[in-house]
Amino acid sequence: MKAHERFPLLPIARGEGAWLIDFEGRRYLDGVSSWWVNLFGHSNFEINTALLDQMGKLEHVMLAGFTHEPAVALAEQLSALAPGRLGHAFFASDGASAAEIALKMAFHYWANRGRPGKKRFVALAGGYHGETIGALSVTDVAIFRDAYGPLLRENILVPFPGDAGAIEALEKVLAEHSGEIAALIVEPLVQGASGMRMYPSAYLKRARELCTKREVLLIADEIMTGFGRTGSMFACEQAGIAPDLLCLSKGITGGYLPLSCVLSSDEVYAAFYDDDVTRGFLHSHSYTGNALACRAALAVLDIFKRDHVIDANRERAARLSEAAHDALAKHRNVRNLRNLGMIWAFEVESADPQFARKAFELALRRGVLLRPIGKTVYFMPPYIVSEAEFDLLVDAGVAIADAA
Ligand SMILES: *Cc1c(COP(=O)(O)O)cnc(C)c1O
Repeated sequence: MKAHERFPLLPIARGEGAWLIDFEGRRYLDGVSSWWVNLFGHSNFEINTALLDQMGKLEHVMLAGFTHEPAVALAEQLSALAPGRLGHAFFASDGASAAEIALKMAFHYWANRGRPGKKRFVALAGGYHGETIGALSVTDVAIFRDAYGPLLRENILVPFPGDAGAIEALEKVLAEHSGEIAALIVEPLVQGASGMRMYPSAYLKRARELCTKREVLLIADEIMTGFGRTGSMFACEQAGIAPDLLCLSKGITGGYLPLSCVLSSDEVYAAFYDDDVTRGFLHSHSYTGNALACRAALAVLDIFKRDHVIDANRERAARLSEAAHDALAKHRNVRNLRNLGMIWAFEVESADPQFARKAFELALRRGVLLRPIGKTVYFMPPYIVSEAEFDLLVDAGVAIADAA
């Protein structure tokens, strides 16, 4: 808050497509999809219409002992879309709570199967899974983690999948500690919060095999990568794998309302199916399965189907990549320009410790919202971004690199 005395917050009056508009009428292109949640633009007509209709019917009912049409339809559609046989949905309200649910469920699954000693988790170096205490325990981003270190459980960190020897290190950990490990948790294909760090799908394929062999559950945290962000509906598809637990949030409602969902395999579900209530998964949030949020998510899935979004994005991303490549790949201050689906990222050679903040401000003055992570600048626009709008992101990226 003290820093905001010098850099005041920017009040936004309304949103329109890929744009945010302040009270003076100044427009900002949302180059980061409002922290990776927005897919089809602000104040989207289809989602608005679905929500208005839903508001006239039912806004919310507790999901204990009750259910409603949007929750049932959404669970069925997500299960049909997800890789493998993830036949069961557990709803919550945000990404971190989905991570908590997946961790608790993995531990409880093994306890129900008579192996309560499997209570640790393996996480990837540089991984991010949210900032509640359980999720933070498997997060490896120092700035979020360090202050709370003493509160966190000790888990096992394995090397970033893009590093040499990463799979061998995972193999070793699983071989030596599988008796105490409940699950491996990963962000498939790209680690978002630690700087859009991309890695090959071969790692996931091998990790899936190792988890199965060593009786360790695989949790795919697709909170950021899900809903088409990496080019396929879910990133796991590109590795041809199915996790045991799949965490979804962020884009799920198109950026409208907080909602998350953990899909679990039929096998995990079966371990909780019992007369003894203590073997059940007792985890609740007041707004679990909120009807408005579920309805927004259904509207999002309708848009995916109607507009063939995954195919359209493939062509869109190819065109946009060309624009990014032409302007940035050979820039003297740009390193490691990369793209995956609707994510573009590069590092800027800069010695300035204030680089991220200054780059943010420079972009903002040009009417573009970018939020660099350290020296990493990335574009993660809503899928409706036009080529002309994307050019504005690229221009801002060039200006940032010029200034470094
Ligand atoms: C954002 C994010 C989370 C946390 O989601 P919140 O809704 O912010 O709690 C967890 N995992 C990944 C991969 C994320 O990108």
